[in-house]
Parts: sequence; structure tokens; C-alpha cells
Amino acid sequence: MAKCEVCGNDYDKSFEVTTQGKRHVFDSFECAIHALAPSCAHCGCKVIGHGVEGNGKIFCCAHCAKEAGVRGVDDRV
Ligand SMILES: [Zn+2]
Ligand SMILES: [Zn+2]
Repeated sequence: MAKCEVCGNDYDKSFEVTTQGKRHVFDSFECAIHALAPSCAHCGCKVIGHGVEGNGKIFCCAHCAKEAGVRGVDDRV
């Protein structure tokens, strides 16, 4: 079985994620998020959902995008 590339756990239910042509192996979604999820450019928390993109950056929510000076974003359009 494959080892999680984040924590090194050798787990029989590990899974693979392929992103941007690279193959990654994780034992849990928590590790996958740790390795792959982008961070909000304003508050630094992990962006698990779609997030908000603006000025070439990704944010966890419209509030953070606005605080960072991105115009025209809103959670409720
Ligand atoms: Zn792990
Ligand atoms: Zn944020």
C-alpha cells in the first residue's frame, strides 16, 4: 500500500489525487487538503470550497477578497 506523502502513514485505504499532471498519495482528506488546498491570500486559511478569485489570487470568501482590494465580488449576487 502507498504511504501518505504528508504524514508518512502507511494506510491500506490511502487514495491518489492527480492535479496539474502530478500524482499524490494521501491517507486522509485532511492530509490532501493540507498539501493541495490553496490558502486565502488575505487571512491565510485553507480554501476548501470554490473560493473567490480576484486579482490573480484566491480568497476563502468575498469579504477577504474585498479587504484585499478586489472589486466586484460578493457572496450573494
Ligand atoms: Zn497523511
Ligand atoms: Zn480569507
